[in-house]
Amino acid sequence: MNRRDLLKNMSVIPVFGAFAGSANILPLTDAATTAVAKDYFKELGIRTFINAAGTYTAMTGSLMRPEVMNAINYASKDFVLLDELQDKVGERIAQLLKCEYATVTSGCASAMTLGAAGVLTGMDEKKVAQLPHLEGTGMKTEVIIQRKHDIAYAHALKNTGLKIVYTDTKEDLVNAISDKTALMYFLNANNFDGPVQVEEFLKIAQAHNIPTMIDCAADVPPVENLWKYTNMGYDLVCFSGGKGIRGPQSAGLLLGRKKYIQAARLSAPPRGNTIGRGLKVNKEEILGMLIALETYLATDHDKEWKMWEAQIKLIGDAATSVGGVTTTVKVPAIANHVPTLHVAWDAKKIPATAAELKEKLRSGSPSIEVADGENQHAIAITTWMLVPGQEKIVAAALKKALTEKALTETHG
Ligand SMILES: *Cc1c(COP(=O)(O)O)cnc(C)c1O
Repeated sequence: MNRRDLLKNMSVIPVFGAFAGSANILPLTDAATTAVAKDYFKELGIRTFINAAGTYTAMTGSLMRPEVMNAINYASKDFVLLDELQDKVGERIAQLLKCEYATVTSGCASAMTLGAAGVLTGMDEKKVAQLPHLEGTGMKTEVIIQRKHDIAYAHALKNTGLKIVYTDTKEDLVNAISDKTALMYFLNANNFDGPVQVEEFLKIAQAHNIPTMIDCAADVPPVENLWKYTNMGYDLVCFSGGKGIRGPQSAGLLLGRKKYIQAARLSAPPRGNTIGRGLKVNKEEILGMLIALETYLATDHDKEWKMWEAQIKLIGDAATSVGGVTTTVKVPAIANHVPTLHVAWDAKKIPATAAELKEKLRSGSPSIEVADGENQHAIAITTWMLVPGQEKIVAAALKKALTEKALTETHG
């Protein structure tokens, strides 16, 4: 085989195969250095992009800070016992967040499944093995949810075998409580949508001795939400790790009552005969979650907020410099509570749909993702997932895209 053939063949060797090959002959540290230099996404033909949309699971959540990656790399070099790590990290998180107990889960959805399992089984290992079959086991069978709080993620509760009882009014809610009720679930993001709000919901549950769970997946900032709802009295509080906290995307937090979280752990790895066996968090991500939380708590949140506002202003000014474009800045009350730029345009001056504009931004270099707007001639932008400096690229690209779409019409 001559050199040219060799090179030709090398180009078709799968990326990771090639890497594994070199790892065989290099000492570990050298292999690691080589790995850093490689552009894996590019070699795989995967598009990377500037995320001006937000913390979307499909867009891989958030970027972990260097502190988190240091912790992950650190953890990768030693064995520990999974339970001991969870015990100690859980204690530390509970201290930091001033709650009774805590554990790291494989996301908010996993916190919901495991938390509900803990409420159902208590410390009874026979019941743990019986899940998700509840009928005839002596376990309760229903979770109450206000219909306005019924989003796709409620499926995480059904994984335990629980049946959802939907309620439409306060009266409904009270009447739905029975000796079958295991849990009452509240979706914090929809607090103002349902007839019963967060404190009253809790009071109703407590008056009937029903355990409560609140889904706060995307509810930092503000940082104080990390202890607000355990303080309020919710038994179980669930957060995503890979949204505003910028921990591993496949990590989350289950916070609250020790008796339920200890019981939840019985359904979690390393234990095998459980509904939670597939909800494993590795040691790297457990430690990474803790360090993400510490780093988040130590962040200057006011300063960060001002930076987001300045970035939003820069992008907004660039957009409105194009004729026919208007912008407004809104901050959602709960969940994704960050300055959000709504960019709308007059379709007569800029005859492009939101989908067309998004595609233009997506196909640019660098590629940029933005969020859906309020109608077919609008998009939304947040800056909290930008690497500082990228706001200038987004501003210029948005202005260019809007201008080009406007010009298309002018020139026929
Ligand atoms: C994102 C989200 C979840 C799921 O969180 P993961 O951490 O991805 O498991 C659950 N509930 C709500 C309201 C969310 O926004």
